Amino acid sequence: MTELSYQTDAYLQEFEANVTAVIADSRAVVLDKTAFYPGGGGQPHDLGSLLVNGVVYPVDKVKKQGEDVLHFLGGDAPLPAPGSASHGTLDWVRRYKLMRTHTALHVLCGTVFRDYGVLVTGGDREPLKGRMDFEFETMRGDLVREIEAAVNREVAQARDVRIKILPRGEAFQIPALIRTKINLLPEGIQQVRTVEIVGLDLQADGGTHVRNTREVGTIRVTDYKSKGAINKRIYIEVE
Ligand SMILES: [Zn+2]
Repeated sequence: MTELSYQTDAYLQEFEANVTAVIADSRAVVLDKTAFYPGGGGQPHDLGSLLVNGVVYPVDKVKKQGEDVLHFLGGDAPLPAPGSASHGTLDWVRRYKLMRTHTALHVLCGTVFRDYGVLVTGGDREPLKGRMDFEFETMRGDLVREIEAAVNREVAQARDVRIKILPRGEAFQIPALIRTKINLLPEGIQQVRTVEIVGLDLQADGGTHVRNTREVGTIRVTDYKSKGAINKRIYIEVE
Protein backbone atom coordinates (compact mmCIF):
# COMPACT_ATOMS: atom_id res chain seq x y z
CA MET A 1 0.00 0.00 0.00
CA THR A 2 1.37 3.40 -1.00
CA GLU A 3 0.72 6.50 1.13
CA LEU A 4 -0.40 9.28 -1.24
CA SER A 5 1.65 12.25 -0.02
CA TYR A 6 0.41 14.47 -2.90
CA GLN A 7 -3.12 14.30 -1.49
CA THR A 8 -2.16 16.22 1.64
CA ASP A 9 0.73 18.28 0.22
CA ALA A 10 0.50 19.09 -3.48
CA TYR A 11 3.66 21.23 -3.19
CA LEU A 12 5.95 18.32 -2.27
CA GLN A 13 8.61 18.26 -5.01
CA GLU A 14 11.04 15.75 -3.45
CA PHE A 15 10.56 12.94 -0.96
CA GLU A 16 12.20 9.92 0.69
CA ALA A 17 10.51 6.53 0.38
CA ASN A 18 11.28 2.82 0.56
CA VAL A 19 10.87 0.40 -2.32
CA THR A 20 8.32 -2.18 -1.14
CA ALA A 21 7.99 -4.29 -4.31
CA VAL A 22 9.62 -4.64 -7.72
CA ILE A 23 7.85 -5.86 -10.87
CA ALA A 24 10.75 -6.85 -13.12
CA ASP A 25 8.78 -7.49 -16.35
CA SER A 26 7.47 -3.94 -16.54
CA ARG A 27 10.43 -2.25 -14.73
CA ALA A 28 8.04 -0.91 -12.11
CA VAL A 29 8.60 -0.31 -8.40
CA VAL A 30 6.06 0.21 -5.62
CA LEU A 31 7.03 2.74 -2.91
CA ASP A 32 5.69 2.98 0.66
CA LYS A 33 4.78 6.61 -0.06
CA THR A 34 4.91 8.91 -3.06
CA ALA A 35 4.52 12.50 -4.25
CA PHE A 36 4.06 11.31 -7.85
CA TYR A 37 0.47 11.76 -9.04
CA PRO A 38 -0.54 8.50 -10.77
CA GLY A 39 -3.03 10.08 -13.19
CA GLY A 40 -6.82 10.12 -13.00
CA GLY A 41 -9.78 12.50 -13.08
CA GLY A 42 -8.46 14.05 -16.30
CA GLN A 43 -5.06 14.95 -14.81
CA PRO A 44 -2.06 13.17 -16.41
CA HIS A 45 0.47 11.27 -14.28
CA ASP A 46 3.67 13.00 -13.17
CA LEU A 47 7.16 12.57 -14.57
CA GLY A 48 10.48 12.86 -12.73
CA SER A 49 13.24 10.65 -11.36
CA LEU A 50 14.03 8.20 -8.58
CA LEU A 51 17.50 7.95 -7.02
CA VAL A 52 18.30 4.53 -5.54
CA ASN A 53 21.78 3.42 -4.41
CA GLY A 54 23.49 6.09 -6.50
CA VAL A 55 21.52 5.28 -9.69
CA VAL A 56 19.14 7.92 -11.12
CA TYR A 57 16.19 6.24 -12.83
CA PRO A 58 13.88 8.36 -14.97
CA VAL A 59 10.23 7.87 -13.92
CA ASP A 60 8.47 7.58 -17.29
CA LYS A 61 5.02 6.59 -16.14
CA VAL A 62 3.10 6.34 -12.87
CA LYS A 63 -0.05 4.31 -12.34
CA LYS A 64 -2.31 3.38 -9.45
CA GLN A 65 -3.06 -0.31 -9.12
CA GLY A 66 -5.36 -1.13 -6.22
CA GLU A 67 -3.74 0.42 -3.14
CA ASP A 68 -0.29 0.60 -4.75
CA VAL A 69 1.33 3.27 -6.89
CA LEU A 70 3.56 1.80 -9.61
CA HIS A 71 6.53 3.88 -10.79
CA PHE A 72 7.81 2.72 -14.18
CA LEU A 73 11.55 3.23 -14.47
CA GLY A 74 13.21 4.12 -17.76
CA GLY A 75 16.80 3.41 -18.80
CA ASP A 76 18.40 -0.02 -18.59
CA ALA A 77 20.19 0.09 -15.23
CA PRO A 78 19.54 -3.03 -13.12
CA LEU A 79 16.43 -2.62 -10.97
CA PRO A 80 16.78 -1.82 -7.25
CA ALA A 81 16.04 -4.51 -4.66
CA PRO A 82 12.88 -4.41 -2.49
CA GLY A 83 13.65 -2.67 0.80
CA SER A 84 15.98 -0.08 -0.82
CA ALA A 85 15.77 3.53 0.28
CA SER A 86 14.97 5.95 -2.53
CA HIS A 87 14.73 9.67 -3.18
CA GLY A 88 12.05 10.84 -5.61
CA THR A 89 12.10 14.13 -7.51
CA LEU A 90 9.17 15.43 -9.56
CA ASP A 91 9.39 17.32 -12.84
CA TRP A 92 8.06 20.28 -10.87
CA VAL A 93 7.83 22.75 -13.74
CA ARG A 94 5.40 20.44 -15.53
CA ARG A 95 3.47 19.47 -12.38
CA TYR A 96 2.99 23.07 -11.28
CA LYS A 97 1.58 23.94 -14.71
CA LEU A 98 -0.84 21.03 -14.33
CA MET A 99 -1.88 22.28 -10.86
CA ARG A 100 -2.59 25.75 -12.27
CA THR A 101 -4.50 24.30 -15.24
CA HIS A 102 -6.46 21.91 -13.03
CA THR A 103 -7.44 24.74 -10.66
CA ALA A 104 -8.40 26.92 -13.66
CA LEU A 105 -10.85 24.21 -14.74
CA HIS A 106 -12.45 24.25 -11.26
CA VAL A 107 -12.81 28.03 -11.58
CA LEU A 108 -14.48 27.51 -14.98
CA CYS A 109 -16.76 24.80 -13.65
CA GLY A 110 -17.80 26.82 -10.58
CA THR A 111 -18.34 30.03 -12.54
CA VAL A 112 -20.37 28.42 -15.33
CA PHE A 113 -22.58 26.63 -12.80
CA ARG A 114 -23.16 29.83 -10.80
CA ASP A 115 -23.85 32.03 -13.86
CA TYR A 116 -25.72 29.62 -16.17
CA GLY A 117 -26.74 26.72 -13.89
CA VAL A 118 -25.18 24.07 -16.13
CA LEU A 119 -23.33 20.94 -15.05
CA VAL A 120 -20.01 19.46 -16.11
CA THR A 121 -20.00 16.03 -17.74
CA GLY A 122 -16.28 15.55 -18.27
CA GLY A 123 -12.90 17.14 -18.84
CA ASP A 124 -9.28 16.64 -19.72
CA ARG A 125 -6.05 18.59 -19.40
CA GLU A 126 -2.38 18.88 -20.23
CA PRO A 127 0.08 21.47 -18.92
CA LEU A 128 -1.48 24.95 -19.49
CA LYS A 129 -4.35 23.62 -21.65
CA GLY A 130 -7.63 21.97 -20.81
CA ARG A 131 -11.17 21.37 -21.89
CA MET A 132 -14.43 20.79 -20.11
CA ASP A 133 -17.74 19.40 -21.31
CA PHE A 134 -21.01 20.91 -20.07
CA GLU A 135 -24.72 20.21 -20.40
CA PHE A 136 -25.01 23.71 -21.82
CA GLU A 137 -27.85 23.90 -24.33
CA THR A 138 -27.73 27.71 -24.67
CA MET A 139 -23.94 27.99 -25.18
CA ARG A 140 -23.16 30.35 -28.08
CA GLY A 141 -20.00 31.88 -29.46
CA ASP A 142 -20.81 35.30 -28.02
CA LEU A 143 -20.79 33.83 -24.50
CA VAL A 144 -17.09 32.97 -24.81
CA ARG A 145 -15.87 36.51 -23.93
CA GLU A 146 -18.42 36.79 -21.13
CA ILE A 147 -17.27 33.49 -19.58
CA GLU A 148 -13.60 34.45 -20.00
CA ALA A 149 -14.12 37.77 -18.20
CA ALA A 150 -16.06 36.06 -15.40
CA VAL A 151 -13.43 33.35 -14.74
CA ASN A 152 -10.63 35.92 -14.65
CA ARG A 153 -12.61 38.00 -12.14
CA GLU A 154 -12.77 34.89 -9.93
CA VAL A 155 -9.01 34.28 -10.25
CA ALA A 156 -8.41 37.92 -9.25
CA GLN A 157 -10.56 37.42 -6.12
CA ALA A 158 -7.58 35.42 -4.74
CA ARG A 159 -9.85 32.69 -3.39
CA ASP A 160 -8.26 30.04 -1.15
CA VAL A 161 -8.37 26.41 -2.28
CA ARG A 162 -9.03 24.03 0.64
CA ILE A 163 -8.56 20.28 0.73
CA LYS A 164 -10.46 18.07 3.20
CA ILE A 165 -10.77 14.34 3.69
CA LEU A 166 -14.28 13.46 4.95
CA PRO A 167 -16.02 10.22 5.95
CA ARG A 168 -18.19 9.01 3.06
CA GLY A 169 -21.47 9.53 4.99
CA GLU A 170 -20.65 13.14 5.76
CA ALA A 171 -19.62 13.96 2.17
CA PHE A 172 -22.85 12.45 0.85
CA GLN A 173 -24.87 15.03 2.82
CA ILE A 174 -23.30 18.03 1.04
CA PRO A 175 -25.64 19.35 -1.70
CA ALA A 176 -22.83 20.72 -3.91
CA LEU A 177 -21.19 17.29 -3.97
CA ILE A 178 -24.45 15.49 -4.74
CA ARG A 179 -24.86 17.74 -7.77
CA THR A 180 -21.42 16.70 -9.07
CA LYS A 181 -22.48 13.05 -9.07
CA ILE A 182 -20.63 11.93 -5.94
CA ASN A 183 -23.01 8.93 -5.95
CA LEU A 184 -20.86 7.47 -8.75
CA LEU A 185 -17.99 6.90 -6.28
CA PRO A 186 -17.33 3.18 -5.84
CA GLU A 187 -18.92 1.68 -2.68
CA GLY A 188 -15.58 0.61 -1.23
CA ILE A 189 -14.35 4.19 -0.87
CA GLN A 190 -14.93 5.17 2.76
CA GLN A 191 -13.18 8.52 2.72
CA VAL A 192 -13.89 11.30 0.27
CA ARG A 193 -11.33 13.97 -0.53
CA THR A 194 -12.93 17.30 -1.29
CA VAL A 195 -11.47 20.34 -3.02
CA GLU A 196 -13.14 23.67 -2.34
CA ILE A 197 -12.47 26.99 -4.03
CA VAL A 198 -13.88 29.03 -1.19
CA GLY A 199 -17.09 30.75 -2.27
CA LEU A 200 -17.08 29.26 -5.77
CA ASP A 201 -16.72 25.51 -6.23
CA LEU A 202 -16.73 22.27 -4.24
CA GLN A 203 -15.96 18.85 -5.67
CA ALA A 204 -14.90 15.36 -4.69
CA ASP A 205 -11.50 15.11 -6.31
CA GLY A 206 -8.19 13.25 -5.92
CA GLY A 207 -5.99 15.58 -8.00
CA THR A 208 -3.48 18.32 -7.25
CA HIS A 209 -4.38 22.03 -7.12
CA VAL A 210 -2.75 25.35 -6.22
CA ARG A 211 -3.44 26.90 -2.79
CA ASN A 212 -5.01 30.10 -4.04
CA THR A 213 -6.62 31.12 -7.33
CA ARG A 214 -4.12 33.98 -7.68
CA GLU A 215 -1.50 31.33 -8.63
CA VAL A 216 -3.56 30.26 -11.67
CA GLY A 217 -2.60 33.24 -13.86
CA THR A 218 -4.67 34.50 -16.77
CA ILE A 219 -7.25 32.13 -18.27
CA ARG A 220 -8.09 32.41 -21.96
CA VAL A 221 -11.19 30.70 -23.33
CA THR A 222 -9.78 29.67 -26.70
CA ASP A 223 -12.66 27.82 -28.31
CA TYR A 224 -15.92 25.99 -27.86
CA LYS A 225 -17.47 23.15 -29.77
CA SER A 226 -20.94 21.77 -30.00
CA LYS A 227 -21.04 18.06 -29.21
CA GLY A 228 -24.79 17.83 -29.89
CA ALA A 229 -27.86 19.86 -28.92
CA ILE A 230 -27.08 19.78 -25.20
CA ASN A 231 -23.39 19.02 -24.80
CA LYS A 232 -20.83 21.75 -25.41
CA ARG A 233 -17.07 21.64 -24.98
CA ILE A 234 -15.16 24.70 -23.75
CA TYR A 235 -11.39 24.97 -24.29
CA ILE A 236 -9.09 27.06 -22.11
CA GLU A 237 -5.43 28.00 -21.91
CA VAL A 238 -3.57 29.38 -18.92
CA GLU A 239 -0.86 32.04 -19.23
ZN1 LIG B 1 -9.57 19.00 -9.22
